Amino acid sequence: MAQMQGFLVRGLPVIREGDDLAYLIESLFELQNGDILCIASTVVAKSEGRFRELKDYEPGARAKEMAPSLGKDPRFVQAVLDESEEVLIEKPFLLVATKFGHIGINAGIDQSNVGKDRILLLPENPMISADKIRKKLSKECAVIITDTCGRPFRCGVAGVAIGWSGIGALRDWRGERDIHGKTLEITLEAIADEVAGMANMLMGEAGDGTPAAVLRGLEYSKFGGELFMPESQDVIRRHLISYR
Ligand code: GDP
Ligand code: MN
Ligand code: MN
Repeated sequence: MAQMQGFLVRGLPVIREGDDLAYLIESLFELQNGDILCIASTVVAKSEGRFRELKDYEPGARAKEMAPSLGKDPRFVQAVLDESEEVLIEKPFLLVATKFGHIGINAGIDQSNVGKDRILLLPENPMISADKIRKKLSKECAVIITDTCGRPFRCGVAGVAIGWSGIGALRDWRGERDIHGKTLEITLEAIADEVAGMANMLMGEAGDGTPAAVLRGLEYSKFGGELFMPESQDVIRRHLISYR
């Protein structure tokens, strides 16, 4: 592999509904063909007008029932339910499958970097968002939309890809040989997540104001691979039953 470089795009404003992220980013940073442009889901959601106010939610019976043990405002719980295809864990945290297939805590709804009394939903379909942004760029680049997430059975948060375009999400190592000549049979490497993790680390989590990062010098395939795993919902459901 060639040398990899990572850059932050500095100087982006507070993003508002209707802002053209591709245009704003390219006016601040000179992209090159082959770059991977990573953008925090937060600003994609802002540009898509995904702000909501808690007072706009009328919690239903289920949200009211779940809220106390979660220690959450029932209106927030209702917002999570509205964004969810299915609730997988409801205590002590709310793990759901979003309508677009991502499994995450609180449906990825953010209350940081958003402003007081407001919440920010994830983009409605980050795969489509990534595609639209990539097609507006003047160079041949990949686009990854990142979100900071917790990971199962590990401490700490890390960036993952919740939307991608122009890059295969998985690198298929099957059929290649290890150092002892044994053929790999199952290894699919989630490179879109690995790239998202690096970019997310550069972006920071607080007031840095750097929601876009560019990784240069990586080789990647343009197509293929899927990170969402619908069947995992069944697996989680079956395991949970044994806890109850
Ligand atoms: P998430 O990981 O997608 O949930 O996004 P974060 O809230 O962790 O923010 C990632 C980065 O984007 C941090 O450096 C934030 O300071 C920055 N950020 C968030 N919103 C904005 C914005 O509207 N404008 C700019 N310039 N930076 C932002
Ligand atoms: Mn987030
Ligand atoms: Mn983050």
